[in-house]
Amino acid sequence: MKVELLAPAGDLERLKVAIEYGADAVYIGGKQFSLRARASNFSLEDIKEAVDYAHQRNRKVFVTVNMIPHNSDFEGLQQYLKQLDEINVDAIICASAAILTMVKNLNLKMEVHISTQQTTTNSVAISYWQKKKADRIVLAREVTYKNLKEIMKETTLPIEVFIHGGMCANFSGRCVISNMLTNRDANRGGCAQSCRWSYHLYHNDNCLDKEDKLLSMGSKDMCAYDYLERLLDIGVSSLKIEGRMKTAYYIATVVKAYRLLIDDYYQNGKISQEKLKEAEILFKRGSNREAFSGFYPGIPDVSGQIYNNDVQANQSYLANVIDYSDGVATIEVRNYFKLNDTLRIFNPQGEDVYFEVTSLVDLDGETVEIANKPMQVLKMKVPVEVNTFTFITKSEV
Ligand code: SF4
Repeated sequence: MKVELLAPAGDLERLKVAIEYGADAVYIGGKQFSLRARASNFSLEDIKEAVDYAHQRNRKVFVTVNMIPHNSDFEGLQQYLKQLDEINVDAIICASAAILTMVKNLNLKMEVHISTQQTTTNSVAISYWQKKKADRIVLAREVTYKNLKEIMKETTLPIEVFIHGGMCANFSGRCVISNMLTNRDANRGGCAQSCRWSYHLYHNDNCLDKEDKLLSMGSKDMCAYDYLERLLDIGVSSLKIEGRMKTAYYIATVVKAYRLLIDDYYQNGKISQEKLKEAEILFKRGSNREAFSGFYPGIPDVSGQIYNNDVQANQSYLANVIDYSDGVATIEVRNYFKLNDTLRIFNPQGEDVYFEVTSLVDLDGETVEIANKPMQVLKMKVPVEVNTFTFITKSEV
């Protein structure tokens, strides 16, 4: 069976982008019983629209119901699970035996995937969840490739692994730094990413950091495409991209990159150097943060940590297209560019198209020399047909 490429989405727009750029399945958070409350913009009506959109294109939608529930959290849960099942959600992702048991006792048709919040790192734990009738395990990120290979030999349950995205400095889901420093509960979706803040480092009373060089405890992001071929060889069921808070452009670049690599593997039995180079370029466009292969090579050492926060915001994404007619795109500006610049058209399918900005006007038809107002709507001549899934980007990288 072909591996599933599983992408995140924080709203309907990003879900559609993930699907158009090649995701096989998308995971989203409802407004109830989910972590990442700030990234959860899906009402039940939105979830239904998302499921219909995905199913029409033969893709799947999973909904996170992954909070760690306390006694007071159960009110309305049973009804919510029934509603998700009625609107044909393909699976929920949960972190609690109580929620798994509830879905199974209700005889609902949707699958239950055990969230990475459960920190499943071994075959014994997988076997436990299998006996409880879980349909899939989302493995902890903190598993080496060597251990994963052993696990894959010992289990018949579908295994989902992370391939790309942010990492925690602690075991994912077992961290209270944010709770302690900000009173925002990481296990209830409120993490303030306190591990990535800048800190002074003291030894006794000596401040060890140099001026302007504060220290962070944050991990590099995961970008494990160098392990992709090996993960496919041992038969993992699903490859997960982290990031429900990420932009539509980030999702488009990362999903397209993995789609290229996965398709190459199934067409040719391996991944070519040429496709790896193409994917590397897409990863660079999507993010400026330093990345590594996570735990796959072994327990990370200091090279997996980001000690300072000198990360520049990525400004390669310049505009998105909101309409197109007769060679003219109506665009919404995201970052600075100007008349006569050479830009790139980035589409879900096909090659990139490079063009010079020869005509840029506002909605009154007045020429605009410089586009530097975020969300400003402008009209621009483009050399090929574009659509609402097209991104206009810088030509470099
Ligand atoms: S503070 Fe950092 S390590 Fe802790 S949950 Fe948040 S992102 Fe993860």
